[in-house]
Amino acid sequence: MKKIAVLGSTGSIGTQTLEIVRNNGDIRVTALAAGNNIDLLEQQIREFSPKLAAVWSEERARELRERIRDLDVKVLCGMDGLLAVSSEPEAEILVTAIVGMIGILPTIEAIKAGKDIALANKETLVTAGHIIMPLAAEKGVSILPVDSEHSAIFQCLQGGQRKALHKILLTASGGPFRGKKKSELENIQVEDALKHPNWAMGKKITIDSSTMVNKGLEVIEAKWLFGVTPDQIQVVVQPKSIIHSMVEYEDGAVIAQLGTPDMKLPIQYALYYPERRYLPGERLDFSTLTEITFEKPDLETFTGLKLAFEAARRGGSLPTVLNAANERAVAMFLDRKIRFLEIPEIIGTCMEQHRVIENPTVEEILKTEQETYEFIKNRW
Ligand code: NDP
Repeated sequence: MKKIAVLGSTGSIGTQTLEIVRNNGDIRVTALAAGNNIDLLEQQIREFSPKLAAVWSEERARELRERIRDLDVKVLCGMDGLLAVSSEPEAEILVTAIVGMIGILPTIEAIKAGKDIALANKETLVTAGHIIMPLAAEKGVSILPVDSEHSAIFQCLQGGQRKALHKILLTASGGPFRGKKKSELENIQVEDALKHPNWAMGKKITIDSSTMVNKGLEVIEAKWLFGVTPDQIQVVVQPKSIIHSMVEYEDGAVIAQLGTPDMKLPIQYALYYPERRYLPGERLDFSTLTEITFEKPDLETFTGLKLAFEAARRGGSLPTVLNAANERAVAMFLDRKIRFLEIPEIIGTCMEQHRVIENPTVEEILKTEQETYEFIKNRW
């Protein structure tokens, strides 16, 4: 029986991961970590019987301990809790479904403990890909992508020669504001930006999709996962999200992975790789599907994507600044403290004022994150 631990079990990816566990019945969950939602975490603990659970605050941990007094489950909190869940001795795979750069240290801990990583937490690779990928290679662990586009690329690369990979064609839906010009985005409200045309996801990533910063983060994630340069990655807007991404080989052959938009496919593929399993749900119906259309991304309107390419090319600590500035700006937008178009403006200003550190250590990455937050706090 396969054994897994999940960071961020109460979120969008976390709950879908547990749905797959429930549906298949042959995976054991040994540890779960969540932020605040102890109602759901308690239910998950009762259903999946992990040995260890973690929540972020000490107060929540105390409350949870009280609620599950009748069970033999250890409850920890803070970073110690996340690290313990990541390195829980029995787990073979850690699913990183936590949101934000808080995922870096737990991911490193899990790799050091020899766990394969089913990676949803893209922020970790965006900011620390230069540390994570070599460490994973050294420890002989696999980084299995959960992000649908990266899973698609990973699937397209099965059976192909990695060295013959010429180009990655990263598809994008374009988000809810595709086709709009900057002037039409001035009065965008939180509710508008939270309406993704194809995917139901957590709030932060849904806003990132509306600004196309998500696609930018994915460009940096792909650079690390597949060992390509940013210039080998082309973003292709394909509004219906039917093609989940493609690869082009040296001889011009393009291989694509298609399907209905359902995150359970990439999650299940990562959990059982290389095995494929039945997954209930809708299938693509080529008798009714009449067209798949493509567009170029509009980098003048969605400047966040342009900034991400810049960060991907420059590297060092610049992707950390992009990511941290975006995290803070999105939180401010969700709190209705800034306007929609200020999100890329804040990212751009933060990147401009930053002096890039080459090959930053984890400490330098986390320091850069804090400095970026501080800069934003003083300025906005
Ligand atoms: P959600 O916001 O839905 O969930 C985030 C999870 O992280 C929750 O379980 C939350 O706990 C937990 N969490 C947050 N802060 C902490 C903390 N300090 N300590 C412990 N747990 C914490 O996010 P998503 O599931 O949408 O996204 C997760 C990651 O996956 C992100 O990196 C995202 O970019 C990536 N991703 C998501 C996709 C999707 O379809 N949703 C697709 C591709 C990638 P709680 O709710 O209890 O506070």
